[in-house]
Amino acid sequence: MDSAIPTIYDISVPGRHGSKLPDVDVPKSDMPADLLRADVRLPEVSELQVVRHFVDLSELNHAIDKGFYPLGSCTMKYNPKINEDMARLAGFAHLHPLADESGTQGALALMYELQNWLAEISGFKGTSLQPAAGAQGEFAGILMIRNYHLDRGEPQRTTILVPNSAHGTNPATCTMAGLNVKELPSDQDGNVDLEALRAACAGDNAKTIAGMMITVPNTLGLFEAHILEALEIVHAAGGLMYMDGANMNALLGVVKPGELGFDVMHYNLHKTFSTPHGGGGPGCGAVAVGEKLLPFLPGPLVQMIEAGTDDEAPLYGLRMPEKSIGRLKAFHGNFGMHVRAYTYIRMHGAEGLKRIARHAVLNANYIRVKLQNAYHVPYNRICGHEFVMEGHFKDVPDVHALDISKRLMDYGIHPPTNYFPLIVPEALLIEPTETEDKATLDEFIAAMLKIAQEAHETPELLTSAPHSTPVSRLDEVRAAKQLVLCCSPVRQAASD
Ligand SMILES: *Cc1c(COP(=O)(O)O)cnc(C)c1O
Repeated sequence: MDSAIPTIYDISVPGRHGSKLPDVDVPKSDMPADLLRADVRLPEVSELQVVRHFVDLSELNHAIDKGFYPLGSCTMKYNPKINEDMARLAGFAHLHPLADESGTQGALALMYELQNWLAEISGFKGTSLQPAAGAQGEFAGILMIRNYHLDRGEPQRTTILVPNSAHGTNPATCTMAGLNVKELPSDQDGNVDLEALRAACAGDNAKTIAGMMITVPNTLGLFEAHILEALEIVHAAGGLMYMDGANMNALLGVVKPGELGFDVMHYNLHKTFSTPHGGGGPGCGAVAVGEKLLPFLPGPLVQMIEAGTDDEAPLYGLRMPEKSIGRLKAFHGNFGMHVRAYTYIRMHGAEGLKRIARHAVLNANYIRVKLQNAYHVPYNRICGHEFVMEGHFKDVPDVHALDISKRLMDYGIHPPTNYFPLIVPEALLIEPTETEDKATLDEFIAAMLKIAQEAHETPELLTSAPHSTPVSRLDEVRAAKQLVLCCSPVRQAASD
């Protein structure tokens, strides 16, 4: 296996060059001797060799541009190339973040429209594009809720209710904001347990409730059937309702969380609106809020200072909301993400956004129904844009969800999300998104059915998978915690 991945040093040939420097047109002088290190070994390669080497390396990774990527809870959808073209327009890409407002009117207009569209799509009053990720949007939302209660003289409201199906960022956010988490159980249908919610908000408990964070559809991919009751119970206790909007892909153009009665939500533009995911950022976790939290939004926000006329474009400027929780990000947030999301929304229009949600939901349900006889689907009802099944068979105890995922790689498909949500043992969370066609879904279904058959007939094929990748099973924790980023040690790590 080891020899399959040559490093750039393996292809280095002494004396070979990849660049040519122009003739010197200034007087020559010596480099300071203490800066020159004799022990630095640099590869000696031609430009074409470098290009081929890195293209080869890039092909060792799976990517959305290479194949199906049904990673649940992540909405790994196709990143349209027109998004990239727009983000690279010189007027956007070369804009200096310190340029003053008179020189950035076009960029401000784009942000202003995006703020308004995101408010309209979610049924809220205002949006801030500051947060750089969903998790940071959560942090912004919970800080706004906290400051709202402080502003009203209710500092004792420090409890946030979080269902046990929640994404791990939800409780982490509350803790970072200095609030306490109270976990709520789920009922047998996968909804939040309403009796437990009532008890948590009853009597004296109500005085300490700051709010509730809930994901809709939840992380099981299920629409919370009692969401209106939950909203009523928490509001009656004086708390505010936070919607984790990571799963907005299932609701676009169909449900407006602000109209349901939520007070605040975040979007993940890198999920719902097709901007790229990248190693924890740069993303955008825009927050949208209702009337109560408008003064607390993180800023600066873009506002229209003067409406346009037939002859003149409107004038835009930046402002900090009156009781803002402050800035979360330098300058204007991840502006390149705003351009991409703007492009995606503009390309699809209102009707197109509805189609996105419908196809995402249809695709997930199609796979669920096709796999429900071969695998156990614990909450087997109409799902949103994703669903959970168990990667385990009662009659083959040695095969686990991880083995199924590893085997899927041999079929050229990225594994689904493993072991999340935590409330389903051996969970495999599958999210196809709307951007895949039926042929791709059918290939995935065929691979999953074949794997179920293999699990019964030749389980060792699964427990020793993957067989087709450059390296087989890695210590995933160590690989993430001890990143090896330089050339030569890679081979050693891979052969460990
Ligand atoms: C992805 C996700 C988050 C976190 O979003 P990031 O952009 O990755 O920080 C939060 N909640 C849910 C339900 C998610 O799926």
